[in-house]
Amino acid sequence: SKAKGKNQYCLFDHSIQLQITQKANIERSIKEALRNQQFELHYQPIFDCAEGRITGVEALLRCQAPALSGVPIQTVIETAEQTGLIVPLDKWVLEAACRFAGKLNAGRDRGIRVTINVSANDIAQQGFVNHVEDCLARNRLKPDWLGLELTESVLINSFEGSRSKLEALKEIGVRMYLDDFGTGYSSLNYLKLLPIDYVKIDKSFVASMLQSEKDGLFMKTLVQLSHTIDLKVVAEGVETARQANMLLRFQCDMLQGYHIGMPRNGEDMLRDLALDLGL
Ligand code: C2E
Ligand code: CA
Ligand code: CA
Ligand code: CA
Repeated sequence: SKAKGKNQYCLFDHSIQLQITQKANIERSIKEALRNQQFELHYQPIFDCAEGRITGVEALLRCQAPALSGVPIQTVIETAEQTGLIVPLDKWVLEAACRFAGKLNAGRDRGIRVTINVSANDIAQQGFVNHVEDCLARNRLKPDWLGLELTESVLINSFEGSRSKLEALKEIGVRMYLDDFGTGYSSLNYLKLLPIDYVKIDKSFVASMLQSEKDGLFMKTLVQLSHTIDLKVVAEGVETARQANMLLRFQCDMLQGYHIGMPRNGEDMLRDLALDLGL
């Protein structure tokens, strides 16, 4: 009926209003949390199948501020991307991750890489390359202890601009990862055109891989395809031993997920990895 239609319109309108208010609240809370140093990084281990050890960790943002405690980190990041706050936020992430990489690799023969997630806005900043180089130098890191995880949205925005910056960083030894592979557009094209070293196959494919022969074959083919163009493959969201075994059979290079290890705070991860090596 007409009355009902009108009512629904009002409801819709109200929910948009609510979203706008929420977004403004989140924005204010992010600024506050940055000021009060209430962000922290957790680290999730990445297992190298050929080496049979953890060779990397992914830094994942977490927030301790009570005002953001109920907000999923994905939403915090989306809001930060829409408001430009992602730039100072990810600057802090780079700094904290490099500091951690220094501690993690002190006295080790074989390095452990720390990868960070990078947004389109970050790369678009003037001085992005210098900023990364400077952070590596200040923390006395070998560049290959740092990896940048990029999504296709990063690259769609300003393809040429991004490409030259990524190439400059790859040149000095920073490793590049294409994140969430398989979920966006034109993935195959980006693989050819960008200085990528690793693809991270999205967890949705790992989740469905055991459901049918077709899904299994799909994963196997993704791994093979990546190998034919000299890319290494990281499978994300590995939650079970069955998945891990299947991925090993498919010659996937690296595994990440709850089955390998949960994201943990820096202190706990340092301790875990020290035990791992018998240090
Ligand atoms: P992502 O880069 O794809 O990160 C992997 C996500 O999968 C993380 O979610 C991680 O906690 C989760 N995960 C890990 N293992 C498993 C598993 O076995 N099963 C399942 N179901 N999930 C697993 P999280 O921490 O909520 O992060 C969400 C997204 O937020 C990240 O997705 C990344 O896109 C973004 N993000 C996180 N930290 C940062 C950051 O410092 N900067 C930027 N720009 N983005 C970030
Ligand atoms: Ca990632
Ligand atoms: Ca991912
Ligand atoms: Ca993601």
